[in-house]
Amino acid sequence: MKNCAIRRGRLGLILLAALGLVAVLRPYCAQETAPVFTRMPDQVLIIDPGHGGEDGGAVSVSGQKESDLNLAIALRLDRLMGFYGVQTLLTREDDRSIHDPSAGTIREKKVSDIHNRVALVNGVENGTLISIHQNSFPSHQYHGTQVFYAEEIRSRPLAQGVQDLVRQHLDPSNTREAHRIPDTVYLMNHISCRAILVECGFLTNPEEDLLLQDETYQQKLAMVLGAGYLQYGDIQEGESLI
Ligand SMILES: [Zn+2]
Repeated sequence: MKNCAIRRGRLGLILLAALGLVAVLRPYCAQETAPVFTRMPDQVLIIDPGHGGEDGGAVSVSGQKESDLNLAIALRLDRLMGFYGVQTLLTREDDRSIHDPSAGTIREKKVSDIHNRVALVNGVENGTLISIHQNSFPSHQYHGTQVFYAEEIRSRPLAQGVQDLVRQHLDPSNTREAHRIPDTVYLMNHISCRAILVECGFLTNPEEDLLLQDETYQQKLAMVLGAGYLQYGDIQEGESLI
């Protein structure tokens, strides 16, 4: 078990180093540059920036909309994955809700938006969902990334893998474990594919609020999510990496 953990740690470092190099080289690469390699060629990574449009989600202590942070991290993850030949699908690529035109009130738009996200995710064959959100809590003291999973067999290994990478590469003091998503989160309880939801940080913590708005930190978050998908995106509960 210990060797396995060390191997995973090393693999994580190698992947992050590679992702970091790619991020640096990106502006100098031509659009038609071939991917570095193709990982899980028959799989699709569905990236879901939570909220959007009139639904801004939570608001940070400095007034930052959750939906904008979610989108910034999602777009960074999408660009990183492009270099690995990973097929991706974004539920939104700009600041909008994806509700039906017939939805009138804000409530109707929210319901329609979430139903359309469910339909979009369930319409993808061999999909894996990473839904990106930010946390909030009445007390300012809480901080740190928390990862949730949809079900045990396929989703928990990915969730725990990402949670471990957060501890290894972003915040050694974050001792959280991945948790099963609460029943109240509609999207995560109505999709059928491997799925995790990442609460990247607490908008109600003043230091973390500023950190989440920092572009370098957003890139690091995207790199951890990408490395997690590349390492754990096709393993099941009980399997271990070689
Ligand atoms: Zn949210």
